[in-house]
Amino acid sequence: MSQNRYDEFGTKLVNDAADIEFDCPNCGKTKIGRSAQARSLGKEYTCPSCGFVGP
Ligand SMILES: [Zn+2]
Repeated sequence: MSQNRYDEFGTKLVNDAADIEFDCPNCGKTKIGRSAQARSLGKEYTCPSCGFVGP
């Protein structure tokens, strides 16, 4: 299992220990970065461009 996987948005999926970065699903203009810790805690993120809040 050494190949990287991509979801429908083209986001690079890596193992759970790594930080991730993805385009805002609402406006697509802003890269949103999340740490594995934030994900495991279920923290919300807010897009600084459009104000979209999501898990
Ligand atoms: Zn946005």
